[in-house]
Formats: sequence, structure tokens, C-alpha cells
Amino acid sequence: MAETKTAGQKLKDELLMNDKNGWEGMSDNEKKTINKFCDGYIKFLNDCKTEREAVREAMAQAEKAGFKPLNKCKSLKAGDKVYSINREKNIILAVIGSENMEKGLNVVGAHIDSPRLDLKPNPLYEDSSFAYLKTHYYGGIKKYQWVTIPLAIHGVVALKDGSVVEIKVGDEDDDMTFVITDLLPHMARKQMEKKLSEGIEGEDLNLLIGSIPYDDEKVSEKVKLNIMKILNDKYGIVEKDFISAELEIVPAFNAKSLGFDRSMVAGYGQDDRVCAYTSLKAIMELDAPKKTAICILVDKEEIGSVGNTGMEAKAFETFVGELLRLTKQDSDINVVNRVFSNSRMLSADVDGAFDPLYASVAERRNASFFGFGVGLNKYTGARGKSGANDANAEFVADLRKLFDSNKVRFQISELGKVDEGGGGTIAYILANKGMDVIDCGTPVLSMHSPYEVTSKFDVYMSYKAYKVFMK
Ligand code: MN
Ligand code: MN
Repeated sequence: MAETKTAGQKLKDELLMNDKNGWEGMSDNEKKTINKFCDGYIKFLNDCKTEREAVREAMAQAEKAGFKPLNKCKSLKAGDKVYSINREKNIILAVIGSENMEKGLNVVGAHIDSPRLDLKPNPLYEDSSFAYLKTHYYGGIKKYQWVTIPLAIHGVVALKDGSVVEIKVGDEDDDMTFVITDLLPHMARKQMEKKLSEGIEGEDLNLLIGSIPYDDEKVSEKVKLNIMKILNDKYGIVEKDFISAELEIVPAFNAKSLGFDRSMVAGYGQDDRVCAYTSLKAIMELDAPKKTAICILVDKEEIGSVGNTGMEAKAFETFVGELLRLTKQDSDINVVNRVFSNSRMLSADVDGAFDPLYASVAERRNASFFGFGVGLNKYTGARGKSGANDANAEFVADLRKLFDSNKVRFQISELGKVDEGGGGTIAYILANKGMDVIDCGTPVLSMHSPYEVTSKFDVYMSYKAYKVFMK
């Protein structure tokens, strides 16, 4: 006998928020779909630990899906799929819509750089029969998290003859790895009394890379010389070549399913490659949209979106200008401005999920939770919304309607308590051009750490959100 609801229960259903965990009541088939999607995501995380690797992988996948390089196109028509790469670290993809671009674009933008340690331009030195590489950290890290974990070296060395040497070493299972050492507890009395932020200092994040001296009585710095000889034999480089290199120290361990129920993903660089992967998948599955759809995968978000591969650069305007020219649409400055002011964007970036171990910094009613879907941050900023893009209510209402009618589970999110948290994304940069923008991304635990955690349900809902938005 079905129980009938009381008047109060009915009223509560009607008037109050009553979201439940997305895994509840899910069919086995749906679980399979989500797991399969995340297998591809985990592979992407393992293949792409730097922005250059992410650009290359995105390009390879896009080409398979029929995208063509924009600079090879003589003209464009509705349904055409194109991409453009900016200095190997930023890729923009588009599917041309049937409607005139002046009526606006649907844009999803994520970033593919992640916090890490970069090598200094003169990194190699020897001390006490050890060889080390000196680093300068990139983005907001907690330094103590980067010692005593296996690390890999990924990146490029550009040579004077114009060639570029690829280096990717330290994360193959049956090969060597690298590490930054820490003090043993027996001798760490003074270190342990320091503040957490000062326990490990930036200048001490030196990567241990060797300890055998070169066998010659007559030379000094024998260990350093021996390492340089190994590098010269393998890569053909000399010490001075480090000056024109971009070598990044990233965690050597691989991403995996997390938990006995395999409901989560643990891995490095999920901020923001989770939104990069999901938005890339979404645009690749798009066919003949009404509005031109654009997916931006951008560099340098973690250090303020600056520089010629960051969101502040003109690469995106140039790209839009080229689309207008190749679709034979007017591209004078007034038209470009109208394109932007009629456009809408999801700033696809992660948010800090509620962590019960650190509940005191969160505000439960406005935090995002694992298993409740993609997070919508109406505004970011810090302490009084300073520096925030605050999405317009009308735009948020449209998104609610779009997501609800397409069974995209979403939740609202804010980064910590009012006086506690705060942060920024690329949202304000596109909003400043006149677009309607909202932050919309996957909740993450241990953000900016070497091993971040996401919920597979939320990852899948992020993908669905980006897909219905661009459709
Ligand atoms: Mn981010
Ligand atoms: Mn970040």
C-alpha cells in the first residue's frame, strides 16, 4: 500500500530545495556509461601532465573527429569544424553554426596549465656528491606536498639550430624516477615548530637526480659532469641549453579510480584538465549547431591568465576575427564587439568541494558536494566579491532551465566562507568583453595538490552540461 504524503510533505517537496545524491537510484547502465567515460578521462590525465601535452592530445582527438586547422581553410560554412593552436600551449576549437555570428557564440573555456615546479634557467648543480635541479614553483602550491613523492620531468629544450628536444622521463613503471628529499623526524625538531607554510622553503625544492662522480681525478664537479654526459648522450644537450628550456616537474604517479566503489578519480592536474577533457569531448560530439560553438583550452590561468598563451592575450579575438572573415561575415570592430556582447560563456573551471575533514572553512548551504553534479559559481572573487565576475540572474535562470530540461544535475557553489576563501578564474576576462559568463565546473578535493580527487558523477555531469550548452 503506497503511503500518501501529508500536506506538509507535499508543500515541502514543492517549496524547498531537496536535491539528493546523484548515485542514488541510478541504473547499472548509467553507472557503466559514467565509468566508461571516466576511463577515457583517466587516460587523458596520464597522457597530459603539461599544457603542451594537453594541446597535442586535444589536437589529435579533434583531428580524428573531423576538425581541420583553421590556417589551412580558405572559407568556412555551417557545420565546419576547425581548430587553431597558439604556441603549442593554447588551442581553440570551433564548430560553425547556421546562424550569423553577430547573434552571439556559445563558448566554453577551460585551462590546461596546473600548479607544478618549473626548472630554473640555470638549474643544474652539485653538492656533497649529489646532483640537483633547482626549481621555481608555478601557481599556488603547498610546498610541503611536493617533497618525498616520485616526480617526473616533462617538457622541451629549444636549441639554437631551431630544433626542439622533447623530454618526458620519470614516470614509466620500469624506469627511474626523481624526488625532493625532506628531513628525518629525528632531526626535525626545529622544522616541526615552524608554521606549515615555512616548513619547506621554495629555495629548497631541489630535485635529486644523481650521485655517481665522473671518473677523472683532474676534474671538479664530477657528479654534475656525469649527469650532463648522460643528458648529452640521450638528448644531445649541453648545460647552456637549459636557458632555452621549459621543463616542468610533475607527479610521477598515475591517475586511478578511487575507492572500493570506484566512484571517484584521483590524479594530478584535474584543476583544470577535468573541465578541459569534458568540454573537449562535448565540442567533438557537436553537429550543426545553430550558434557557433567554441571551446577554449588556455594556458597560464594559474599565474593570472597573463602572457601570450593566457586568456588575457588576443588569441581568442584573432580567432573570432578569422571565423568572421572565412564565413564572409563583416568583421569590423563594431561587429566583433556585437559578437561578444551577444555571446554566452561557461567558464569551465573546478571548484573546491566540501571536505568534511575541513568543514570549518566551508559554508554548507553554499558549498558543492561530491555526487551532486556540476557546480555553478554565480560569482567568485574574495572577501566582498572583490575581483569577481557576478553572473546576471537572467543568464543563471536560462541555464537552470536548460540543465533541468536536459537532466543535467547541477549544484550551486561558493569557494569557502565569506571571510575565508576566494579565488579567480578566466570568467571576468570574457565578461569584460561583454559576454554573459558564469563559472561552471567540477568540484575537487585537495585542489592544487599533487593528487586531486573528483567524483565520477560530477565529471560526467560537467560533460553533459557543456554539451547541452553548446548544442
Ligand atoms: Mn582552475
Ligand atoms: Mn587552480
